[in-house]
Amino acid sequence: RVLVGNLIGEDHVNYVLMYNMLTGIRIGVSRCQAKIKRPLTDDDYLARHKFSFDIVGNELTPSAKYDFKFKDYAPWIFRDLRDEHFHLDPADYLLSLTAKYILSELGSPGKSGSFFYFSRDYRFIIKTISHAEHKFLRSILKDYHQHIKTNPHTLLSRFYGLHRVKLPRGRKIHFVIMNNLFPPHRDVHETYDLKGSAFGREYPEEKAKTNPKAVLKDKNWVNRNRTLELGPEKRALLSEQLRRDMDFLKRVKVMDYSLLVGIHNMERGNRDNLRENQLQMFHPEVPPPRRKPSAIKQSAEASNVRKAVRRSDPKMLDVTSQLPSSDSADRRHFLFYQDEGGLRATDEANQNMDVIYYLGIIDICTPYNSLKKIEHFWKSMTEDRHTISCIDPINYGQRFLNFLQSVMRGGDKSLRPLGLEAPS
Ligand code: ATP
Ligand code: CA
Ligand code: CA
Repeated sequence: RVLVGNLIGEDHVNYVLMYNMLTGIRIGVSRCQAKIKRPLTDDDYLARHKFSFDIVGNELTPSAKYDFKFKDYAPWIFRDLRDEHFHLDPADYLLSLTAKYILSELGSPGKSGSFFYFSRDYRFIIKTISHAEHKFLRSILKDYHQHIKTNPHTLLSRFYGLHRVKLPRGRKIHFVIMNNLFPPHRDVHETYDLKGSAFGREYPEEKAKTNPKAVLKDKNWVNRNRTLELGPEKRALLSEQLRRDMDFLKRVKVMDYSLLVGIHNMERGNRDNLRENQLQMFHPEVPPPRRKPSAIKQSAEASNVRKAVRRSDPKMLDVTSQLPSSDSADRRHFLFYQDEGGLRATDEANQNMDVIYYLGIIDICTPYNSLKKIEHFWKSMTEDRHTISCIDPINYGQRFLNFLQSVMRGGDKSLRPLGLEAPS
C-alpha cells in the first residue's frame, strides 16, 4: 500500500504541533536574522534561545493561537550556515516555511518513528528527531560547521535549523530543518536508499512492480544491475567528496546513514502531478498516525488527494499551483546539485547523458552508542557479521565507501561488500 502525504489542515491531528513549529521558527529565526551580524564565538554552539508563546502575547513574543514553548538551538551558527554556506535567502527561507500554515505530512517513512513534513514549496523538509539524535547533533555541531565551511560541495544533509517545541502537558518534540534532495519540478523515476550492507536491504521486487515510487535498497540496486553513469571527471569529483564526507562521519562516530539516490530519466520526462509524485516517493511502511474522522483521507490516487483536499479545505489547493517551475537558486552553488538541481549523467568522454541523479547522504545523526552495540552483539550471533547494517563507524564508513565505489561505472566490483556481489 502506498501512502500519500497529507496536507495539514486545521482538522488534522498534528495541526497544533505544526502551527507551533512554524510559529516558533518564524519568530525565532526572524529575531536572530534581524540582528547585526557579529563574529561567532564558541558559546554560540551551545546557545539556546527560549520563547514562551501564549494566546495573550508579551513584549518578546506576539500572541499565538496556542500555549507552547519554543527553543531555538545555536541560532547564530545556523544563521551563518544558511547565509554564508548554504546560500539561502533569509526572506525566502522564512516565506517557504511559514507564509501559510500549510505543510504536508508524510507520516513516518522509516523505522525510527520520525515524522517528515515538506514546506509548501517542497524545498525544505522538517524531520522530527529523537532526544538522542538531538543531543548528538548538538555535540557535533562545531565539527559539522567546520566540515561545511571547508567542504562547500558536501553531500551531507544540509541542516538549516534545530528546534524544540514543548506542548503544555510537557511533551517535547525536537526537529531539524534540512534540504529536500529531490526537486519539485522533476519526477524521480526510481529511488534508492543505499547503505552498503545486504542484511534487510531489499525491497520486495513483487511489491516494487506495482509501486514505482518505492524506496528501493542495496540488493535491488545489485539485482537490477544499476550503475551510476558518470564520466571520469564527475566520477573523480564524486569519489573525492564521498571520501571527505566519510572521513567526517567516521571521526564523529556516526553510522546507519545512507546515500539517497533519485534517478530522473529525461526521456521519460515529467508527468503532471508533480507534487503528488514527490509525496509518493516517501514510502511509509509504518501505519500513519490515527486521525480524526474528518481529516483528509489517505489515498494512493493523486486525484483523490485533490478531491479530498477540495472537500476538507479548498484553500489548500492553491499550494499546488505555487510550486516553483525551476530549481532554486541556492543549488547552483553546489557542484553536485548544479544540473537541474542534481547531477547529470555523463559518458566516458564526459558528455551529457539523458539521466539526472539526485544524491545526498541522509540520516547522519545516529551515534554508535551502547544501543547499537547491543544490537550488533545479538545480530552477530545469528547473521553473517559482515552483512548486517550495524557495525562500528569505521567499518561502516569503509564498507559504505567500497560499495559506492563499486557502483560507479567502471568501478572495482571486487570492492563489493559481502552479500552484495553482482548477480551471477
Ligand atoms: P530509519 O532510521 O528507519 O532509516 P528515519 O526515520 O531516520 O528512518 P531517514 O532514513 O532519514 O528516516 O529517511 C527515510 C526516507 O525518507 C529516506 O529513505 C528517503 O526516501 C526520505 N528522505 C529522508 N531525507 C530526505 C531528504 N533530505 N530529501 C529527500 N528525501 C529524504
Ligand atoms: Ca535511514
Ligand atoms: Ca534514522
